[in-house]
Amino acid sequence: ARRPIIIANWKLNGGIDLMCSSVASFIRKHYEAEIVVCPPYIYIRDMLNFLQHSEIRIGSQNVSKFESGAYTGETSAQMLKEAGCKFCLIGHSERRAMFRENNASCQIKVERALAHNLTPVLCIGENQEERENQITKDVLTRQLTEGLEGIDLTDKNICIAYEPVWAIGTGKAASPEIAQEVHQFIRHELAALYGEECAQGIRLLYGGSVNKTNAKQLLTQEDIDGLLVGGASLDPEHFLDICQQAT
Ligand code: 13P
Repeated sequence: ARRPIIIANWKLNGGIDLMCSSVASFIRKHYEAEIVVCPPYIYIRDMLNFLQHSEIRIGSQNVSKFESGAYTGETSAQMLKEAGCKFCLIGHSERRAMFRENNASCQIKVERALAHNLTPVLCIGENQEERENQITKDVLTRQLTEGLEGIDLTDKNICIAYEPVWAIGTGKAASPEIAQEVHQFIRHELAALYGEECAQGIRLLYGGSVNKTNAKQLLTQEDIDGLLVGGASLDPEHFLDICQQAT
């Protein structure tokens, strides 16, 4: 069975106050699910120190496609691993829309993450127009085949997050039925690429306007193994409530 996983993506939010209140809320609790917090880079080390005796894992929101060199502003997979990160988000729709990320850059980043034993969380999802034009499945297939091209996932840890762009930050989460249908399709595509056994082992997360009210119904869908939470993760008690619904 796939262990449920709940990931907080703070995006460019929070500060020392959120870090401290989150640590105070999360520490010394036991969770059935794997819990991951992805704060801005600058807080990663402090959070790891504060949470070293807890079950909470830390992830980054991005990773460089370069290993080292003259790339001002970048942070490498090796540095993240060395710092103690376990996960990294790759190809979030905001990065695709505003920072020129595409399937090809995601592919390199997934490779980098895997090479340094970070678990990549590859984010995919269609936008409103693509859904209306009924090309959701084509978009997802491309994001998966190009984003994972040439990468052998056998015995590797990777997660795929389905985040429909129209559901992010809009308060309009995908219904559990629609989300399940898409997740089932994603698993089917992964099975075509890597075989059924490998596909059954990959955790698929849903993201987009997740909150404590819709979390349970999403999590009880057969192919939804976890949640990627944005806005609701900025309130530690709210996020904790979501985490405790994953059993
Ligand atoms: P919201 O939960 O704020 O809709 O954001 C989802 C998201 O983008 C998480 O990565």
